[in-house]
Amino acid sequence: MNIHEYQAKEILKTYGVAVPDGEAATSVEDAVGIAERMQANGTSLFVVKAMIHAGGRGKGRTKKNHAKGVILCRSVEEVREAAASLLGDVLVTIQTGEEGQTVNTIYVTDGVDIAQEYYLGILLDRGNSKNVIMVSTEGGVEIEKVAEETPEKIVKEWIEPGMGIQPNQARRLAFALGLEGDSFKKAVKFISALYNCYVVTDANLVEINPLVRTPEGEIVALDAKMTFDDNALYRHKEIRELRDESEENPIELEASKYDLNYIKLDGNVGCMVNGAGLAMATMDIIKLSGGEPANFLDVGGGANVETVKNGFRIILDDPNVKAILINIFGGIVRCDRVANGVIEAIKDPEIAKKVENVPIIVRLQGTNAEEAKVIIDNSDLNVISAVLLKEAAEQVSNVLSA
Ligand code: ADP
Ligand code: MG
Repeated sequence: MNIHEYQAKEILKTYGVAVPDGEAATSVEDAVGIAERMQANGTSLFVVKAMIHAGGRGKGRTKKNHAKGVILCRSVEEVREAAASLLGDVLVTIQTGEEGQTVNTIYVTDGVDIAQEYYLGILLDRGNSKNVIMVSTEGGVEIEKVAEETPEKIVKEWIEPGMGIQPNQARRLAFALGLEGDSFKKAVKFISALYNCYVVTDANLVEINPLVRTPEGEIVALDAKMTFDDNALYRHKEIRELRDESEENPIELEASKYDLNYIKLDGNVGCMVNGAGLAMATMDIIKLSGGEPANFLDVGGGANVETVKNGFRIILDDPNVKAILINIFGGIVRCDRVANGVIEAIKDPEIAKKVENVPIIVRLQGTNAEEAKVIIDNSDLNVISAVLLKEAAEQVSNVLSA
């Protein structure tokens, strides 16, 4: 699950990670009120930031007002103008795609003097079964680019799960950033506090880009991205409540309500599969057949009528879908049951209307596969059976070229 920058910073603050002061607003008047309070506390430089679940805001522009997603303001009046130019407009950045994201919330925060920008990220390195902390002196830019062009400029420390972060590891990372004296000590404290926050909240990514050193030697997070392990959310009620559904793809959101593992893609062949590995193999098969997968959909172990119906609803919400490939392995769930489930689901009037022009190729393998094939072949619906994966691919290719 993703959260907004201001939410991440509120969490980080409670773990002793240094962040500039700021507050979120959903109206121009609220933004002005926040700026006035900050001014009364001595702030003269403000930054107004668009809160969307995507990065690249500093270089992005809104569609209507051509406003940047991160705006430096020197007065309360400028905060008012910045807020008005962002709220309700659609921000397009390198990460949002052309359609952009509507700005419903903005963050009014202290403008910070920057001596140098750094990168700091923590994530789970699945290959090593360990968390890894990465730092770079190349902050404020896309870290993917640094990783590709100058990988030696990224320094990593892997953390032993049973030991947690060791003081010498935090010191090595701060040293790699070229820090000295007080800034060095502050960075060590920052990194340790950030790692602690990452572990305790069950995050699977924390990215501070940029982490900055001020001319006074302070070390603060100017940006913060946090994502959490969905499987651990059940034990973090306060984090679950930060979910902002308006930032999520509407079809993916609906799928998550049905407990389906769905990710929308850009292709023309929908697929419904049980098991993530088989789903990926099925997407490969679709590509081999000359089609492009329209989605990733893992319906899980059950594959009963209700799951299949929900799967159809989700897949058919996408107007690009020209054919559907169902690839179910019947281990515990028997294939004949799945076949009957598929037939019953297609007879649902709402689904029947939508699949009139969308051929469905069904490949069922495993327990009672022969019986299942007979059920599919004997139905007078727009369904085609396949036994081998290769056959399924050929059928997809046939219906696409028909
Ligand atoms: P994004 O990564 O989405 O572009 P950032 O929060 O990293 O957004 O902001 C982009 C740039 O704007 C930063 O690299 C930094 O130079 C500047 N910036 C962001 N927040 C502040 C702030 N509070 N004070 C001063 N400069 C800031
Ligand atoms: Mg950033």
